[in-house]
Amino acid sequence: MCNSFNKKFIDEAAKAMANDEDYDDVNHVHFMSEAIKSAIKGMNNNEGGPFGCVIVKNGEIVGRGNNKVTSTNDPTAHAEITAIRDACKNLNTFQLEGCIIYTSCEPCPMCLGAIYWARPEKVFFGSNKNDAANIGFDDAFIYKELPLDMDKRSIPFEQIGRKNALKAFQLWQDKENKTNY
Ligand SMILES: [Zn+2]
Repeated sequence: MCNSFNKKFIDEAAKAMANDEDYDDVNHVHFMSEAIKSAIKGMNNNEGGPFGCVIVKNGEIVGRGNNKVTSTNDPTAHAEITAIRDACKNLNTFQLEGCIIYTSCEPCPMCLGAIYWARPEKVFFGSNKNDAANIGFDDAFIYKELPLDMDKRSIPFEQIGRKNALKAFQLWQDKENKTNY
């Protein structure tokens, strides 16, 4: 009797906390531990590197991801990307408005870009990019490439066919039935 009352009380408190806009620190720790669990589980299943991510909306996990680069032959299958895809599929939207991303490691430049496109409310990260570099996952070179002139980058970028390419833009501008984003 006493136990079931306590359980009910705890469940209700957890629910109230989940609905509160100012999440308690405990929730952040809980969701971060879920991201880390995904990292370890994916790694143990030989899906990819030790990175995990969960996406939370209104106190509930709406998307999960872990690194799957080597198992899916997909260099873009980072934890944040796979979690964003999962959350967007589950929420049936291309924008993560009101969502919080918990990622086990500081996002790389690719994931940083993807996060900006997805437009979540906030990002929490566990380990940082220096920690990742220490175990062989160094993304510092990408940050160094960004401000370089195109012809100075390790992968050369060159512009061709601008006039033809602009036709697609003109068609988009003139298109009436389009979904803006
Ligand atoms: Zn990444």
